Amino acid sequence: MTARELAFLESAAARLKPLFETAKTVALVTHVTPDGDGIGAEICLHSYLVSRGIETRILNTDPLPLKYRFLDTRGAVEVFDPERHDAFVRQADLIVMLDNSAPQRLGSIEAATRASRATTVCIDHHNLTDPFWKVSIVDPEASATGELVYRLIKTLGGRPDFAATQAAYVSLVTDTGYFRFGKTSPGAHESAADMLAQGVSPPRVYSEVFERHSAALVRLGGIALKDLRLEEGDRLAWITMTREQVAGCGAELEDTSDIVNELLTIDGVKVAALFKGIEDDRVKLSLRSKGPLDVNKIAQSFGGGGHTNASGAVIPGTIDEVAARVLAACRELVRRGA
Ligand code: 5GP
Ligand code: MN
Repeated sequence: MTARELAFLESAAARLKPLFETAKTVALVTHVTPDGDGIGAEICLHSYLVSRGIETRILNTDPLPLKYRFLDTRGAVEVFDPERHDAFVRQADLIVMLDNSAPQRLGSIEAATRASRATTVCIDHHNLTDPFWKVSIVDPEASATGELVYRLIKTLGGRPDFAATQAAYVSLVTDTGYFRFGKTSPGAHESAADMLAQGVSPPRVYSEVFERHSAALVRLGGIALKDLRLEEGDRLAWITMTREQVAGCGAELEDTSDIVNELLTIDGVKVAALFKGIEDDRVKLSLRSKGPLDVNKIAQSFGGGGHTNASGAVIPGTIDEVAARVLAACRELVRRGA
């Protein structure tokens, strides 16, 4: 661990300690369509807070994807239902937002969070931090939010149990693309070594998380990739998915954003985009890039966000309209080269 990481963890733990010592009820939340990092971070922190006798609930906007169900050994992940959970969120002592700081990405949980009496805490590793949270524990250099949570628990003197450790490992491997992406640091490998020493099995995790795709998702990927487009001397690649294509494959409930990563495997491609038609005439954009090319800025300019090399947004309009505007920004980025 570097001196910077250690100093960050110690000051963050000092801020969290009094909150965890006095809270009786805690709501853990993450962004809409929760991913492996958000879910791993929630399950890891849940285990610690429950071990301290705190009534803790994980409330998400969407059901736990099949590939992450093995992590939820306590059956702790619930889908937020205003009738059942609104009062809990409003009266909680703490709300901890994981892997995101934008309140509007809380989806159906946003209203209860804004109306809550809770001390609001954000634990995250994105570059931009929304000022909404009373306490922000944000390290943009952390490889994954779940890894940050795991280290925070240890800094607080806790001992993550096997389920918590495995959940943090899933955060780490999903957000670093198995130690390939830019935020993969020596610390990420140190944490992984520690997690493996606690009994986490890489082949088990790999098979649970990456070998559970539905045939529908793989078919949809094939359909979208068949029509991939290349521009700017093959440095910019993009694909579309219409609502009809998604429905035709029976893939309405699938998280399709990973399909965009396939485009980056094409020799020379530096920026990749996926435009997916969703309800209410909106388009879900997923952007990926290599090296210094910053697709986060593009996503932000369309009301979204993310990281330098992986970002996204939900943009009103038809696929053609949205693609025309976003691709203009992508072309400029590729031409500028930074
Ligand atoms: P994906 O393309 O996998 O959905 O998203 C890639 C990354 O971009 C996510 O990890 C998240 O950090 C960010 N992201 C995706 N969609 C949105 C969005 O609508 N708003 C914001 N602020 N960030 C997003
Ligand atoms: Mn993350």
